Amino acid sequence: MKYIYFFGAGKAEGDGQMKDILGGKGAGLAEMTLVHLPVPAGFTITTECCDYFLKHDHRYPTELRGQVAKYLAQLEKVTGKKLGDANDPLLVSVRSGSARSMPGMMETILNLGLNDRSVEGLAKRTKNPRFAWDAYRRFVQMYSSVVIGLPKEDLEVKLRALKTRLNVKDDTSVSAEGWMELVGEYKSYFNEKTGKPFPEHPTEQLWGAIGAVFESWMAEKAVTYRRVEHITGLLGTAVNVVQMVFGNQGENSGTGVCFTRDPSTGEKTFYGDFLINAQGEDVVAGIRTPMHLSQMAKLMPKVYKQLERARQLLEKHYRDMQDMEFTVDEGKLYMLQTRNGKRTPTATFRIAVDMVSEGLITRDEALERITPEDIERLFYPVIDPSVARGELGKRKLAVGINAVPGAAVGKAVFTAHEAEDWAAKGEKVILVRRETSPEDVGGMAVAQGVLTATGGKTSHAAVVARGWGKCCIVGCEGLNIDYAAKQMSSNGHVVRQGEWITLDGNDGSVFEGQVQLTVPEMPKSYQTMMKWADQTRRLGVRANADTAQDARKAREMGAEGIGLCRTEHMFFKDFEQPERSADRQLAIQEMIIAETSEARRKALAKLRPFQRRDFIGIFEAMNGFPVTIRLLDPPLHEFVPHDPKQQKELADKIGIDPKVVARRVDQLHESNPMLGHRGSRLSITYPEILEMQVGAIIDAAIECQKKGIKVLPEIMHPLTMDRKELQILTDATHRVAGEIIREAGVKLEYLVGTMIELPRAALLADQMAEVAEFFSFGTNDLTQTVMGLSRDDAGRFLFDYLDEKRAAIFATDPFQTLDRTGVGLLIQWAITRGRATRPKLKVGICGEHGGDSQSVKFCHQLNMNYVSASPFRVPISRLAAAQAVVEEKRKGSAKAKRN
Ligand code: PEP
Ligand code: MG
Repeated sequence: MKYIYFFGAGKAEGDGQMKDILGGKGAGLAEMTLVHLPVPAGFTITTECCDYFLKHDHRYPTELRGQVAKYLAQLEKVTGKKLGDANDPLLVSVRSGSARSMPGMMETILNLGLNDRSVEGLAKRTKNPRFAWDAYRRFVQMYSSVVIGLPKEDLEVKLRALKTRLNVKDDTSVSAEGWMELVGEYKSYFNEKTGKPFPEHPTEQLWGAIGAVFESWMAEKAVTYRRVEHITGLLGTAVNVVQMVFGNQGENSGTGVCFTRDPSTGEKTFYGDFLINAQGEDVVAGIRTPMHLSQMAKLMPKVYKQLERARQLLEKHYRDMQDMEFTVDEGKLYMLQTRNGKRTPTATFRIAVDMVSEGLITRDEALERITPEDIERLFYPVIDPSVARGELGKRKLAVGINAVPGAAVGKAVFTAHEAEDWAAKGEKVILVRRETSPEDVGGMAVAQGVLTATGGKTSHAAVVARGWGKCCIVGCEGLNIDYAAKQMSSNGHVVRQGEWITLDGNDGSVFEGQVQLTVPEMPKSYQTMMKWADQTRRLGVRANADTAQDARKAREMGAEGIGLCRTEHMFFKDFEQPERSADRQLAIQEMIIAETSEARRKALAKLRPFQRRDFIGIFEAMNGFPVTIRLLDPPLHEFVPHDPKQQKELADKIGIDPKVVARRVDQLHESNPMLGHRGSRLSITYPEILEMQVGAIIDAAIECQKKGIKVLPEIMHPLTMDRKELQILTDATHRVAGEIIREAGVKLEYLVGTMIELPRAALLADQMAEVAEFFSFGTNDLTQTVMGLSRDDAGRFLFDYLDEKRAAIFATDPFQTLDRTGVGLLIQWAITRGRATRPKLKVGICGEHGGDSQSVKFCHQLNMNYVSASPFRVPISRLAAAQAVVEEKRKGSAKAKRN
């Protein structure tokens, strides 16, 4: 098998398309060679070799030895130099590079090939012994830490001690003799630590470096980076062995990094930094302040012109903004790397839209270039990029699961009540809880952000916070929350109630104190891009919205209706008239505590006007768009107090004996409430709840219709499992609705359908569709029930299933990205069977997956009518639905080409 690809002297075996096996860097070097840009010669060992290495107990494929020898010989021939030569030695860099850029996560070794003989050769050829010995000490230093794993700090200490001895401040002031002395010290240290002398033989050095680069693929930081960036499915890293060129040989040399467009604004200007007499690492390390490219143009006009040519050629060639690294070696330009440049979300939109108007890319391609994260990051505040990373590191308290992105600063508060009190006084708070329940919703609403010690991405806290676009970190198991002492601790750091903390929902970090935040500006190109997305997609996009406020937000974000209104979310807070929240709470609690149907009806009658008002607000906001309202779903115990003091307060308010409250709460206790008395089971036992809710919906619809608002209500029964069950509920719905409509003497269209959240309902979809006019897949519960994983608790151990270094059973969290293989198969079955019964069956999804790009694409493939997502994720779903069409077209044309 071929594991190595050569490039040099105007020829290359690979090309720019081969990123998967040559990595981005290797493919870029090959491609730049092919388009005749000045590139130093070298070869790339493939990612397939890395894959083999990692899968075979860190052994190389047998043919690799021969191939390395052959390509090394070819490199020596092309460059006219020999590795380890005593006169004019070949030196190489050995660099990592995978198909997706992972800046700084993997290893690099420079100046390889230097030893006690060849350093003299280099000194002779460059007539610069200081330079040669500096290069040698850098190599020994890098090799010792990167390949052997000796502590970097020990080596740095020796360097600092040398400078103190020589009484110099900068590395540039150390003489050849000084570096010579340091090399000697490093080597003794190496010998002492490893029991072996420092490898003098260049091929031994090369093999050490190759192994170290492969190993770095599984280094902790690389694994973490891939997890955070959702990078999956890669084979590993490639290894690029490239002839060294030097930017630190004097005033006629230098090194730089440049972008074909401004990576922060997206503006079409040549943007970059250049350092005279320096090596690449000096630019990255930020030790010296580099000059702008315009200054370089004046100092080295000829080289600049060449660089400008490379800019134009490469951007046109790759049809994307490029990030290029270059070195000027004694007046000669070398391109060392080109890759699609990282950019801010603002620049992403601007560059894509500009490139369409320049005719460089098509609209479809522009749509494909936007990621869900680009959209997310446009809306949420972020930690100010100018805050020093080191400073942040010192303040980090703990890391949890990044449930909702964005950043938030506030004072830590440990109860929802206090959060509300504090916020009412104008304080910014972060609500910190072990977990949250619907009772906390008021506190969550006023908090800047929410932090919980348990739970996963579909836990209550996460679902609610996502709906509001509120920064939320869950499953932060490292936090020790002590409600009694009103404090939390992590690694010996204690944060008391009222002390400032900062949450970074992008990566799940929790920091002590107030960290500076900024809100990125919304670029004009965002609107253009979303217009293109809407023109392209076929899948409808609705929002999950529970209040009039949410519904208005949803319209603003481009939702074409509501796919899920969770009625119970209005039970604890009156979002339009907050002073009436307590009345609502009391009515719902009274209803639950009631021991007779009559008492229950009395309490429900108090609740009905509230629900009616809520629905009016929602219908008004959604004028002309469908609104799916789900009847009561969660188990009732979630709405009643569990501690005796609050139970007594409730009993006093209702005017009953506290024992009755305690007894009723006790009766409601279930050992497994998620599979308990919830969903449609509630309406079977207490039909009066259904009657009140349907009554309120129909009342509101009639009232809105009278005002000229176009209402399209869809009444939805949750968690059903049987045709007869659904028939009973549907009959009751029609009975109540029919009576009100008749009495009002109006005509009102509405639909009655069901959520599909249980395997039985999905399996018997043909029967369910005999009754239901629409299906909405509640994939939070469906994932839970198909996989047998609790959506609230699985976060604690799912990590083991996902982590590359552990079991790596799933590539993604099934509560976040739909499990196509299992849950998806059942959904497909249910749609096919459902539509066999009722060909026009309307099908949607309203679990959290409706706002996940990959899952939305799957819903498109399954021919659903719509997806429904939290308002802030609506643009992500609109874009994903458009991307699904583009992918389909691309696959279609590829298939057509094959035939
Ligand atoms: C679901 O289960 O997917 C759903 C949307 O309902 P909930 O999250 O309210 O249980
Ligand atoms: Mg559900």
